[in-house]
Order: sequence, then C-alpha cells, then structure tokens
Amino acid sequence: MNTMPGRHFLQIPGPTNVPDRVLRAMDMPTIDHRGPEFQALAERVLSGIRGIFGTRNPVIIYPASGTGAWEAALVNTLSPGDKVLMYETGHFASLWKRLATRLSLDPEFIEGDWRSGVDPAKIEERLRADTGHAIKAVCVVHNETSTGCTTRVDEVRAAIDAAGHPALFMVDTISSLGSIDYRHDEWGVDVTVGGSQKGLMLPPGLSFNALSDKAIAAQKDAGLPRSYWAWDEMLEANSKGVFPSTPATNLLYGLAEAIDLLNAEGLDNVFARHQRHAAATRAAVAHWGGNGGVEVLCENPRHHSGALTAVKMPEGHDADAFRKVVLENFNMSLGNGLSKLSGKVFRIGHLGDFNDLMLMGTLSGVEMGLELADVPHRKGGTEAAMDVLTKAAKTGKGA
Ligand SMILES: *Cc1c(COP(=O)(O)O)cnc(C)c1O
Repeated sequence: MNTMPGRHFLQIPGPTNVPDRVLRAMDMPTIDHRGPEFQALAERVLSGIRGIFGTRNPVIIYPASGTGAWEAALVNTLSPGDKVLMYETGHFASLWKRLATRLSLDPEFIEGDWRSGVDPAKIEERLRADTGHAIKAVCVVHNETSTGCTTRVDEVRAAIDAAGHPALFMVDTISSLGSIDYRHDEWGVDVTVGGSQKGLMLPPGLSFNALSDKAIAAQKDAGLPRSYWAWDEMLEANSKGVFPSTPATNLLYGLAEAIDLLNAEGLDNVFARHQRHAAATRAAVAHWGGNGGVEVLCENPRHHSGALTAVKMPEGHDADAFRKVVLENFNMSLGNGLSKLSGKVFRIGHLGDFNDLMLMGTLSGVEMGLELADVPHRKGGTEAAMDVLTKAAKTGKGA
C-alpha cells in the first residue's frame, strides 16, 4: 500500500488517472442487467460512445482489455490463412501481429524502426503489388504507445484508396481515443479498436470495436471461429438495450460520465490540451538533452504523439534505474521501455484527466530525477515547458 502523503503521480501512458467524477459515478449499487434501469444506461453509453469514435454506426462494448477487442476485430471479419498487412510501428503493433498469427491468419509485417509512425507510401506500394487482392485487411496502430509516434490515419486511408485496394482497414486507437483527434467514419476505417483505461479516463476493463457497414457485412464470410466475441449476437442484444452476457455495469456508469466530461470540454479542446502538453514536454526534453543526452524517441515531427512522450536515455544510463529513483523519491510512476526498448527509454504519459500544473509537477519530478540519478542533462527543461504553457495561455490556443 502506498503510504506517501499526497497523490501518487500516475504518469504512465495508461492506465491513466481517473477523474473523481468518474470514480463517484461508478460508486453505485449493482443493478439488474436485464431491468429497465440498466436499459437506460445501455442506451446512454451505446449512443454516446459513437460520438467519441466519430461514427454513426454501432460500437461494440466488451468487458475485456484492449487485447480482447484486437481479437474481436480479426475473428469477426477474417478467415483462417487470410493475409493481413500490418506495420511494425513498435511493441503494440508487434503484439497485434503475434495475435493474428496465433489466430491462424497470415500477417505480413512491414518493417519499421520504432521511431516513426506508418509510412503510407509503403502501404500503397505493397497494395499496388497485390493485384490478386490476397490481402484481406490492413491493420495499423494509431498511437504507438511504446514509442510515442502517432500515425496519420487519414493518409493511410488515402494510400489504400490510391492503390484501389478493397482490403478492410483496421485501426488500434487504444491509447489515442479521447486524447488524439480520431474520425472513424470520415477516415473510412472499417474496424476501430479502443480501450477504456487510457484517453477515456476509466479504469481498465472495457474495450471497443467501432464498425463500418463493410465490416458488418464481412461477418457473413468470415470463417474464423468466434463465440464470446461475435458481433452479431452483441448487435442483436444491444438493439434491445441489453448484452448477451453480463456487462461490466459499474464501468458503464463510469463510461457514461467520462463521455459527458469529454463532451462538456469539447473534443477539439480535449485534443488541443493534449497537443499543448505534448509540445511542452518535448520542449523540456529538448532542453534537457541540449547537445547530447536525453532525446525524444520519435524522430518524425509529424508523428509526435499528443498522448505520451518516449524519452531515449543517453548511452550507458539505464531508464529503469532512473524510473526507480523517481518513484522512490517523488511518488511518481513513469512508463518503462517495452521489449527492445527495455532500459533504453522511459515514457511520460500526458493523457487523460490532466492539466498544466499536473504536467509541471510531472516534469519537475523528471528533472529532479535526472539530477538524482546522475543522468547528464541541462537544467531548466521545466522552464522551457512553462514557456510553452504560458504562451498558449496568452494566445488562448491549445498548442
Ligand atoms: C495498451 C495498449 C494495448 C493493449 O491493451 P490492453 O488493454 O493492455 O489489452 C494495445 N494497443 C495499444 C496501442 C495500447 O496502448
């Protein structure tokens, strides 16, 4: 149990801080999930969540972590042996690919360097070469949480269209939904995968599939076995305000509240706030790094993430030792480096229920931690971040 006074700073890129209003909204007695009270709640979340995805189509809500919704996206639309085109943006793209392999799909992985998002030209080139349309789906991660690189989903859509390819388009927005601009319908995405515990400001435990008409139609010929994940049963039950099996009732209360909070702030303002915090964080990192030292892992400025910043340590310095110093001294959790980035990067989550002063507390903890852990750096990164924030406040602009 954490006995340090004050609030723990949970600055990992998910799960994120849950607003008090959401916690209170979930503090409810369990209700009959087949009764009229539940039906009203179900209708509220099933319609409200569409706006967050930017879709008019149904959104499936699973009591599951994001990984479950990854699986659901594939098993409802594809058949054993189907070729799927995936893109190695980092750890999460690699896990989705492994999941596809385990499901007996045949993923083709476009290699990436874990320092940028998807290059749409590579997708277009591969699809153009696939004249027989063997590729049944293109799957990308919108915000690669292991690297802090965000793919331009609209550009990937344009690449698929330019190649004139009929593949389904699937996007993982588990760490971008509710924090980085996303438009399921407008960007022509067939299945969007989401999760509750990152930008949506909820505890872990819910995940989502937003669908297109084409994805719904693909169920008919999809030969992969599915039962718990089957969309048709869900859609049928949801149309009557119920779920085929027991829903996560109290998380749904929280979801309804989180949707209200996001809408009250306005999604555009939410996205601008995240961009502002990301810009301030990068200014701090750039200052600390000076000429040498720490640096922002994502090398392509057009792919810089609004939700988190992965920071690359200088050679010979261990990111996990640094994170331990920060946790023990300042009661703050920073994200670790995942798989091949283990020990090489730490990640600052600046998404979800978060404001300017929480960011400054976070960056102060990082700067003091660099000092305590003897990581070479130039002092004053926090001031560079403050300059970004005050400038934004003066102009009234988010970023
Ligand atoms: C967190 C995350 C996942 C995994 O989700 P779980 O809820 O842990 O199953 C997948 N993709 C991305 C981009 C993520 O950030």
